[in-house]
Amino acid sequence: MLLEKYITYGIVLLVCVVIIAIYLRKLKKASQEVEAKIEKAKEEGLFEPVSLHPVINLNTCIKSGGCITACPEQDILGIVNGKATLINASHCVGHGACFHSCPVEAITLVIGTEKRGVDLPHVNQNFETNIPGIYIAGELGGMGLIKNSVEQGQAAVENIVKSGFRKNPATYDLVIIGAGPAGISASLTAKKHNLNFITLEQDTLGGTVFTFPRSKIVMTAPMDLPLHGKVKLFNTSKSDLLDLWQTVLAKNNIQIRENTKVEGVLLENGSFKVMTLKGEEFKAQNVLLAIGRRGSPRKLNIPGETLEKVAYRLLEPENITEKNVVVVGGGDSAVEAAISLSEQNNVVLSYRKEHFSRVKPQNKENLRVAIETGKLDVKYKTNLVKIETDKAILTHEEGGSQFALENDLVYIFAGGELPTSFLEKAGVQISKRFGYTMKKHG
Ligand SMILES: Cc1cc2nc3c(=O)[nH]c(=O)nc-3n(C[C@H](O)[C@H](O)[C@H](O)COP(=O)(O)OP(=O)(O)OC[C@H]3O[C@@H](n4cnc5c(N)ncnc54)[C@H](O)[C@@H]3O)c2cc1C
Repeated sequence: MLLEKYITYGIVLLVCVVIIAIYLRKLKKASQEVEAKIEKAKEEGLFEPVSLHPVINLNTCIKSGGCITACPEQDILGIVNGKATLINASHCVGHGACFHSCPVEAITLVIGTEKRGVDLPHVNQNFETNIPGIYIAGELGGMGLIKNSVEQGQAAVENIVKSGFRKNPATYDLVIIGAGPAGISASLTAKKHNLNFITLEQDTLGGTVFTFPRSKIVMTAPMDLPLHGKVKLFNTSKSDLLDLWQTVLAKNNIQIRENTKVEGVLLENGSFKVMTLKGEEFKAQNVLLAIGRRGSPRKLNIPGETLEKVAYRLLEPENITEKNVVVVGGGDSAVEAAISLSEQNNVVLSYRKEHFSRVKPQNKENLRVAIETGKLDVKYKTNLVKIETDKAILTHEEGGSQFALENDLVYIFAGGELPTSFLEKAGVQISKRFGYTMKKHG
């Protein structure tokens, strides 16, 4: 009887030991996989964060994995030896879902790192810059998230109203630049206070989140939209969010001036002159910069660049078929766009250099395969010099001889102009921040 009991205990113990051993092996394997991903991210230059990113307090982290499941991007965070760690940190878009999901508040959102500084403008608690009358709201000030940008857009305009600025019938009370979440919320607040205002957007309304292919949007808490009320869209889609923006703006009779890029803001005789790329000028008593941190795509400034067939981002390659396409550029965006378009189209990739030195190893490999299988035609050391309705004219770097390609669509990926120079031109003070804490629990 006693022996039987010991045997049973022994078996139970053995089963427990086996289960624990399997569990520990699984954990070790998972850690090794994450370590390998970190090594790869380091090789590919993706380990170092570029902007806002989570910093994990390893003394507090309890390996719940909440941050990993909450992050909608891929492989930004992982667990090594029981503690959360960064992997492809440069892919972090700073929306802070990890920050909100951590049950023990072990995550802080930080901008810049010890090695890589990030330019941030100076704003006071009213969102006003060193230039009285110029305000900043949203991600440009450093803090990401749709909800935060909405809150800041509203708060900045409330502060403008409270500032008791002098109205001038010959000028706008306020020019809002940018129609992302911050600019939209600011426009609604300006309407609420009967301000004489205009909102200028270089592209179409919606902001950064609409320029990326992912359709899912995550909001970790309800947001309060001026003139509308609480919005409880937690896991939503881009189209639902866009519908919401459009409905609320239309209901309140607010028109956003789209396709209007602002080139500069100048203080002149006590009011601001806001100048657009199209050569228009708007005078205002206050200016709100809600332009985000992504900047504007760099233009080539060549004839025909304003034709409708020219674009600076690729949103739905699967819907583009049987077209003659020219893609310009030598970075990852250009290479990825050219490869994805080459599945269903006749694509020429034009690059001014003789090889692609700046692209990720995986893109280099995909490019090699696409060229070898004849899917993609790369014209090295060429420049796009003119765009016509049905043609693209290129020149060879050497000798300058010209050639024309049948053409339906042009995609230009020539980098971006960061908002830093825009701010500097307007006189707004900026500092480089190395690991600056933007949000801490508690
Ligand atoms: C891939 C990706 C996924 C994301 N996912 C989420 C998510 O799921 N949930 C979440 O809460 N946040 C998410 N974010 C973060 C969120 O998109 C940003 O924090 C938010 O959009 C910032 O709002 P904003 O209004 O400050 O700036 P933006 O959204 O960047 O809007 C700025 C606007 O200003 C315009 N503009 C810029 N320069 C000029 C100029 N010179 N003249 C005129 N207009 C100009 C731009 O075209 C743009 O429309 C994501 C970001 C990215 C990149």
